[in-house]
Amino acid sequence: MGIMAQKKVDYIIVGLGLAGACLAVQLLRRGKRIMVYNTPNQNRASLVAAGLFNPITGKRIVKTWKADEIFSYLFKFYHDVESELQIKFFYDCPLYIPFQTVEEQNEWMSKSVDDSIKNYILQVNTQSTFGHEVKDPIGGILLSHCGHINTGIFLDGVKKLLEQTESYSEEWWVEEKLKISTHEGVEYENLSAEKIVYCTGIYALKSRYFDALPLRALKGEVITITTEKPLSRIYNRGAYVVESGEMEYKAGATYDLTNLKEGITLEGRKELEIKVRELLSMSFKVTHQDWGIRPSTVDRRPIIGVHPSQNNILIFNGLGAKGVSLAPYFSGQLADYIMGRGDLDKEANITRVKSLYSKFY
Ligand SMILES: Cc1cc2nc3c(=O)[nH]c(=O)nc-3n(C[C@H](O)[C@H](O)[C@H](O)COP(=O)(O)OP(=O)(O)OC[C@H]3O[C@@H](n4cnc5c(N)ncnc54)[C@H](O)[C@@H]3O)c2cc1C
Repeated sequence: MGIMAQKKVDYIIVGLGLAGACLAVQLLRRGKRIMVYNTPNQNRASLVAAGLFNPITGKRIVKTWKADEIFSYLFKFYHDVESELQIKFFYDCPLYIPFQTVEEQNEWMSKSVDDSIKNYILQVNTQSTFGHEVKDPIGGILLSHCGHINTGIFLDGVKKLLEQTESYSEEWWVEEKLKISTHEGVEYENLSAEKIVYCTGIYALKSRYFDALPLRALKGEVITITTEKPLSRIYNRGAYVVESGEMEYKAGATYDLTNLKEGITLEGRKELEIKVRELLSMSFKVTHQDWGIRPSTVDRRPIIGVHPSQNNILIFNGLGAKGVSLAPYFSGQLADYIMGRGDLDKEANITRVKSLYSKFY
């Protein structure tokens, strides 16, 4: 390669959102030297996220994709990071979904004996149980394996870890300066590496290598509220309400594929206020509002793997609205794969993305 390169690492990571941070941890655990470029506060997704993880979601309340593998993995992953970095950001906390109809109530009564799901159910209540905090006139389900992470503390902890070994730069990483050689690796300014992994969230669409990915920018807004009394668990129906401080909660989120203008909106705030009022039975005050852009995919699966024509360029993206739960498991899979141990999940593998392959072949 060129004569400019002075510093050598195994892998370069671009982006320190949830994707980049989890992958960085995984590669360090496997004894690899890395360099991470990240200019914070650009897409904002990982920073504004309420940090919720929940294996049973959606309007129809169903078990999420690969929940059994993904949720047992994330508990261990985040706990280990907490002890490695001596920080606290992970909160294991039950989540309650009030029922809206009697049909739903009946459906869950029968589902609660189903082997594939009963592990996640703590209680099925057929009458109001937490009415002092939430509107649940016909009961609801209380779920286990749920909780939240404080993404700010987690990301800051990983950043500090990287800074200790001069493995972190807040410079905006410029693709035009990347030099690639199919056999030897990549070079960026005075740094050389075996491979580079793009963990750039929605910015992947600005890359000449990944602009044909079927990523969709999905704007989200979230409000911070305070209540008179503390809430004892996470509530989720229409909106979620998740603890973020003392008697302070994040409530979200909106989902907007069309109005992607930067910044918070009055409509976003109104929508969330209405949903929280429908959910909680106590009064609250809105103290803050924030926004971010999620990197979502049409098939709702992450996108991981090697670029079709550049085998030293990889990607970890498409975490959509579920970065907190998906990032630990898939960063582990990608880290093993990069090191030649094991395969990528077919449903998450970039090889399924025909639009990208037709651009490069
Ligand atoms: C309002 C809202 C609420 C959410 N709540 C939840 C939740 O409760 N639970 C959950 O699981 N998920 C939630 N999400 C989704 C979650 O935030 C995303 O899945 C996740 O953050 C995506 O992470 P990422 O690392 O792929 O992307 P990002 O967070 O966008 O990170 C990419 C990083 O790369 C940097 N970057 C990009 N290009 C460059 C470059 N060239 N040079 C330097 N730096 C670069 C960016 O600045 C950024 O820091 C929420 C999202 C929003 C918007």
